[in-house]
Amino acid sequence: MAQIQKTTQREVPLSKVRNIGIIAHIDAGKTTTTERILFYTGKTYKLGNIDEGTTVTDWMDQERERGITIVSAAITTFWKDYRINIIDTPGHVDFTAEVERSMRVLDGGVTVFDAQEGVQSQSETVWRQADKYHVPRLIFINKMDKLGADFEGTLAMIVERLGVNPAILAYPMGKEQNFRGVVLLLEKKALYWEKDPTGVTFEEGEIPAEMGKEVEKYRHNLVEQICAEEEVLLEKYLNGQEPSLEELKAALRKATIDYRLVPIYCGSSLRNKAVQPLLDGVIDFLPSPLDVPPVKGVNPKTGEEEEREAKNEASLSALAFKIQVDPHVGKLTYIRVYSGILKAGASVYNSTKKDSERIGRLLLMHADKREEITEAYAGEIVAAIGLTKTATGDTLCNAAKLIVLESIKFPDPVISLAIEPKTKSDQEKLGNALNRLSEEDPTFKIKINHETGQTIISGMGELHLEVLVERMRREFGVEATTGAPQVAYKETITKIAEGEGKYIHQSGGRGQYGHCWLRVEPRNRGEGYEFVSEIKGAAIPNEFIAPIEKGVKEAMENGVLAGFPVVDMRVVVYDGSYHEVDSSEIAFKIAGSQALQAAARQANLTLLEPIMKVEVTTPEEFMGTVIGDLSARRAQILGTEVRGVARIIMALVPLAEISGYSTTLRSLTQGRASYYMEPSHYQEVPKNITDLIVAKRI
Ligand code: GDP
Repeated sequence: MAQIQKTTQREVPLSKVRNIGIIAHIDAGKTTTTERILFYTGKTYKLGNIDEGTTVTDWMDQERERGITIVSAAITTFWKDYRINIIDTPGHVDFTAEVERSMRVLDGGVTVFDAQEGVQSQSETVWRQADKYHVPRLIFINKMDKLGADFEGTLAMIVERLGVNPAILAYPMGKEQNFRGVVLLLEKKALYWEKDPTGVTFEEGEIPAEMGKEVEKYRHNLVEQICAEEEVLLEKYLNGQEPSLEELKAALRKATIDYRLVPIYCGSSLRNKAVQPLLDGVIDFLPSPLDVPPVKGVNPKTGEEEEREAKNEASLSALAFKIQVDPHVGKLTYIRVYSGILKAGASVYNSTKKDSERIGRLLLMHADKREEITEAYAGEIVAAIGLTKTATGDTLCNAAKLIVLESIKFPDPVISLAIEPKTKSDQEKLGNALNRLSEEDPTFKIKINHETGQTIISGMGELHLEVLVERMRREFGVEATTGAPQVAYKETITKIAEGEGKYIHQSGGRGQYGHCWLRVEPRNRGEGYEFVSEIKGAAIPNEFIAPIEKGVKEAMENGVLAGFPVVDMRVVVYDGSYHEVDSSEIAFKIAGSQALQAAARQANLTLLEPIMKVEVTTPEEFMGTVIGDLSARRAQILGTEVRGVARIIMALVPLAEISGYSTTLRSLTQGRASYYMEPSHYQEVPKNITDLIVAKRI
């Protein structure tokens, strides 16, 4: 990927741009499918195979070794003069930030399922994530060649578990090793991938006679489903007349974009069969940037909501959704341009940071090369070099027409660990590496414990932190040792209380004088922190209010009960006093900090802990044992479900109770059960356990 190719830019009409993500549960075949798409669209010249670790999108060594895609990259490719930008989305829930940020900039998605596994619990999770962002989707039922592949069974699960209204467009001919190709139901065409092992060429043939009835039935259903979506078509249909192919496609396109129907394709990426119809589906049915609602944001001057239409003539609005440190060109900022034109070399305004930035060069990232471009148009996704202040989630716009786009929301980290450099030279590199990595990943946080001098890193799960420590070693050459993972508790208050802070030293010379009274009030979970001044008259001059808040924030970050950050609290400064000469910002900051601690101590402080949503899949015979063990871990069992021969147990379990669970589960069930978990919410820790944790920290 080292070479950069300069091109004279060819503008693709916006209606012919598709920004899509391949969304899938880990192992469903996302990487293989992406790789085949890049191959068939002519951008890579050698078929890669994930098992040999040579695919294009998994460009980090580590991803290769682990066989999982961690970091999303945007790749541009062309299919039938449409430009398709593929934004890679990770399938592992430990990397929620990556999933969320990629969903935010997609217009449509292709969800890949494994025809033998069907809809697994993680596939459900990724499906719902896409639902949350209203991403219209196609479904690709992959691995039709695999032993046990079951198109109908997978389809039934899709309907039942995802609540999808499926429009079957590609119906499989054969399965397992006899999977030969697909019948395109709308076109009534049978396509065979049997001669060319690379699958580039395929043959059109007869629909096998024994499938005639089935195909007719499915086609009839499909046409009826589509016609039901549009009155004009329905009328025609009821009059016994079939609408034209164009009419049917147009209606299906609309229904897909409105998320009323989900087109279903099937094939085998690994065997290079039936991927091209899926690509046709992407251009036929997934939205262009023109088909999605105009992006919304807030004008920071008026506080009013504004929209920007996806037009080059509109003023610039763009979102930085990803920062990646590239081994060849340094820092790359991936940007989705929503409106207007982003120009190389131009100055833009970062309305999130309230600062100007210069765009250096602009690149389109292809699978095998980079293309330097001079302008990026509305609706496009590009990578910029040269941005220094812009972080993930920041808005770039025109300084004369300000807008702040809705930022990407990232969940709070739930787990942390202490990290220590091995040698003195590692120490210097460590800080730099940590900063770079946290710049790339907003759910990765760094904190220095001032008492112990330790560096604490936190993230979304053990695997998340493991991957980052590993990257530090490889990409930045930092050797470090890490402590045991710790649960990221938080502190909060449960009643209203008041407290006084007084920092007064007036013996000789210029003294110090800061004095305030604060009231703290509990807020609901997730409502966060709010600071309000009720100071009237001259008790404290206005200029000292901000320093008080600074002190409050600092005290909250450092914790009051056991050193964990205090959250979900309203802080009101309502009284105090000052001295004409001796009062200073620093004195008020210290007073603010003291008052906060005093008030919080009176407010029934308690700890909050992260609760994980856990799903265990086990053979029936181990149900009782597994539930018994979970109950001993303070679990709340939400329910159980029968899935084929397996039993599913759903529970909420405190993260603190579930470390090392994989080993336990293995020994409880002779290795026959599996589980999966994701952060759910924060909840109050029972009093007796809070006392134990606090005692340990002091
Ligand atoms: P990802 O984790 O979703 O990116 O999935 P990969 O593309 O890495 O594929 C996971 C595994 O499934 C690999 O061993 C692939 O070789 C295999 N695989 C992918 N596509 C197919 C397919 O169409 N048929 C079969 N039998 N295996 C496949």
